[in-house]
Amino acid sequence: MSRGTDRDDPGEKLAVELVDEFASRLRGQLVRPGDPDYEAARKVWNGLIDKRPALVARCDGDEDVIAAVNFARDNDLPLAVRGGGHGVAGLALCDGGLVIDLSGMTGVDVDPDGRTARARGGCTLADVDRATQRHGLAAPLGLVSKTGIAGLTLSGGMGWLRRAYGLSCDNVVSARVVTADGRLLTADGSENGDLFWAIRGGGGNFGVVTSFEYRLLPVGPEVFFCNVYYPADRAGEVLRTCEQYLSKAPDQLGPLGVLGRVPEIEEFPSEAHGEPFVALLALFPGDPAEGEEALGPLREITEPICDLSGPLSYVEAQTVLDEDYPDGGRYYWKSLNVPELSDALIERILEHAAAAPSPTSTIDVWYQGGAMAQVGEEETAFANRGVPYLLGIEGNWEEEADSAANVAWVRDTFSDLRDSFSTGGLYLNFPGFLEEGEQLLRESFGPNYERLAAVKATYDPGNLFRLNANIEPKKPNS
Ligand code: FAD
Repeated sequence: MSRGTDRDDPGEKLAVELVDEFASRLRGQLVRPGDPDYEAARKVWNGLIDKRPALVARCDGDEDVIAAVNFARDNDLPLAVRGGGHGVAGLALCDGGLVIDLSGMTGVDVDPDGRTARARGGCTLADVDRATQRHGLAAPLGLVSKTGIAGLTLSGGMGWLRRAYGLSCDNVVSARVVTADGRLLTADGSENGDLFWAIRGGGGNFGVVTSFEYRLLPVGPEVFFCNVYYPADRAGEVLRTCEQYLSKAPDQLGPLGVLGRVPEIEEFPSEAHGEPFVALLALFPGDPAEGEEALGPLREITEPICDLSGPLSYVEAQTVLDEDYPDGGRYYWKSLNVPELSDALIERILEHAAAAPSPTSTIDVWYQGGAMAQVGEEETAFANRGVPYLLGIEGNWEEEADSAANVAWVRDTFSDLRDSFSTGGLYLNFPGFLEEGEQLLRESFGPNYERLAAVKATYDPGNLFRLNANIEPKKPNS
């Protein structure tokens, strides 16, 4: 029965008794406007996001998630799903609807003999890394430890191990998913295979994942981490040396090139503060001494501004970039696939990086390939696997007054590079706010789009889960 008939703000029309009854069925807490926790419950990592949900269900277990999905569906409420709250576009929140907040569901069970870990849907990368590293194991996740595993994994998941062991989604062996009809399903190689296929790259379209089971690989506990900064006028040589190096080196390394400006902190020489840099960062997952030798060529390309490389615990290495992304800062990111690092592209990236209004904004070059490209294009929902480079355009700034200029910089950079250099599509974990609409989604899902629409029609025909990179439900030939 639908009680929320006002489409503009259906949450406001809900009868108090109905909401009270819902709250009484939850093991976790239901937060409403006016509650002491409301302001905290409506904050996500990106300070640009300012939304006012009618209800936030802080779930404590699968039964809570089922109750919340049923409540949203039966009352026709806009529904947002929050894992780690680090989605750049802020779709973990909604105005006037219900937020299913899993951030309290952070348990991780490791099976060291079977080399798997089951992680609840609200875990951060740090939760999983800490638990798995006790056994010298790791699931391939992302680069910043405070990020949530759920959003990250559902749209791919690229970290230091992507070329060695694949994307996060490539290492999911099963998941538990609450679908729009309120069922709790197992999705794996033998049950609900189409759902299992779709959640490995198709984002939050298909239901709420209450836990992921990951395959674990031996990594660390000590690793060697390359973190070297060169003057930006050597960008062509640095980025191309790395490219040539990877063509000969084993796939163990998944480097990241970063173009930015030297921060005014003591680790960097004061005469370089504010100067443009090109950095190479990479993690060698095996023996640190072997890693130091293997990474040598990336650290000797020319005279560096600064070389912060060294051995670290894997858990520490996973936090090296954390402080670059403080909670509550303002962020707007986009990405695009490019087929080669041509001179013209590098020159244009340098121009755009130099024009960034904020000194903490960067343009990043993700070296792809290796294990992530060895999975078939249609084997999981994640597409564009063969593209050798992904460019990330990260607008990062602090003050609201600077928002318009920074958003404009990201959009201009994106549209210029897209027009001249991209093969189409973007990485749906760095999506901007998806203003480009369905065309870009189709490019990003490539040959998997139609099948995703069909799986969506099976599991979410009413498009309850639509606050995401949304795929319209569509049966084939309908
Ligand atoms: P949330 O905002 O909680 O969720 C994002 C979306 O995912 C939601 O809107 C919803 O649609 C869906 N969702 C979340 N939880 C669930 C669930 N349990 N079930 C179903 N749907 C759900 N990506 C990389 O690949 N590699 C990186 O190295 C990397 N670094 C990053 C660093 C920072 C600082 C940030 C902010 C992001 C980074 N990302 C990276 C991008 C990141 O993968 C996405 O922002 C991702 O969405 C974050 O997931 P979350 O659970 O924290 O986000």
